[in-house]
Amino acid sequence: MSGLFGCIDTAKKPGNVARTAYYGVFSLQHRGQESAGIAVNNNGSFMVHKQTGLVADSFDDVILSTLEGSAAVGTARLASSKETGSDAIQPILIKSRAGNIALSSSSAILNESEIRDSLKNLGAIFQTNTDSEVILSLFSRNRVRTDDCESAILQTMKDIKGVYSMIFMTEEKLIGVRDPYGMRPLVLGRKDDIWMLSSETCALDALDAEFIRDLEPGEIISISNTGKITSTFFDDSEDSSEKRVNDGKVCIFEYVYVARPDSVIDGSSIYESRVKTGMALAKEHPCDCDLVIGAPDSGNAAALGYARQIGKPYGSGLLKNRYVGRTFIQGTQDQRELAVRMKFAVLKSAIAGKKICIVDDSLVRGTTTKHIIRFLRDSGAKEVHVRLASPEVKFPCCYGVNASDAKDLPAKTMSVEEIRDMIGADSLGYVSLASLKDSLEGIHCGVCSACFDGNYIAGKTTCSNQSVHSVIYTEV
Ligand code: SF4
Repeated sequence: MSGLFGCIDTAKKPGNVARTAYYGVFSLQHRGQESAGIAVNNNGSFMVHKQTGLVADSFDDVILSTLEGSAAVGTARLASSKETGSDAIQPILIKSRAGNIALSSSSAILNESEIRDSLKNLGAIFQTNTDSEVILSLFSRNRVRTDDCESAILQTMKDIKGVYSMIFMTEEKLIGVRDPYGMRPLVLGRKDDIWMLSSETCALDALDAEFIRDLEPGEIISISNTGKITSTFFDDSEDSSEKRVNDGKVCIFEYVYVARPDSVIDGSSIYESRVKTGMALAKEHPCDCDLVIGAPDSGNAAALGYARQIGKPYGSGLLKNRYVGRTFIQGTQDQRELAVRMKFAVLKSAIAGKKICIVDDSLVRGTTTKHIIRFLRDSGAKEVHVRLASPEVKFPCCYGVNASDAKDLPAKTMSVEEIRDMIGADSLGYVSLASLKDSLEGIHCGVCSACFDGNYIAGKTTCSNQSVHSVIYTEV
């Protein structure tokens, strides 16, 4: 679920769109912290700067000054476990027969290995094990036998199976693509002559840009450097003139924890949906407590809604160290606990002697929650009740978001009572899937909720024995 941002100055003023891209990608940092990169197009000549680490650590004034151009694309990247090495850092650049191409993408391509093998059999070479390189290789071949980039992308979408959002930068255009399921968000925005594509609206707000609209599921939107905008739609139905509209299934975890609270995805405010989910959770699982706190940061809005509904005070009890990344450090139990302690600090004066209800966005493995409950008890909490603003995660994600192994999911085999016991809470309650969906007010498409109900709308691969159709590619 990397953060993607692209911009193109249709007035082609001499300038530095890299700074616009920098602030865009910076605003999407929450979607991926492993690497950051920006590529620019300066009259058909491409330059890129990318490295591991956070956006702010990867760029400075000098670097941004050298990235001159009238279009840019960037990524704040969350890599999958197979996508290792510096060559995998995005944007990925290639020189094809159609000229320079840069790609920022967030994808889980289910038939990636089949396509890679068939391309290798035709002599293709790869420098990385990323989906993006396979997509670019396919695109490049498709471009040779199509009239334009949009047609080549359309054919590539037919070849690949899976979920993705992508921003291509060609020598003349910026092209945004949302997968036919609409599982990953992508929006269009504008500020004066600069058009923007972004994973979330929060980046547009940060740049004081106007939100134009969400890309529709299966849409390819193309913005030329002269300001011409065209839309093409992927459609695998018989009647290709009938475009798909609003039948997408955005990942429900965008609303639960992935997206920033100030973003709006497919018509539903992330913040409002979280507050409403918290209220619904309170109706389903009320709690006799003295103080409601959120697990920072993604549990805060739901905690506010929960407290509002039960009429109890909402306050701070846990602080998150913003300079600590992920906590799944391998090693001993003590090391893991220390890592969680580095990430969360307890406000002892607010907690001591009180019955605490902590609202979290979700419970996947439960390891962090268990440690947090211990810290709260060590800090003097009389009772610790846990409420979760999403249902029990019983199924792994095949699309690169959550744990991909069913054995990592306690809810798959354990009852609520057994999980409560495992994490050491006084009580435990999950919001129902129906209430969670009802809380997404204003949403104008469906949601993928496979983690909760096992309904894998885009097919399954590594998380089941069922395989997807592979592309048998023939030489042109
Ligand atoms: Fe999101 Fe779960 Fe669907 Fe994956 S399976 S896309 S995490 S809802």
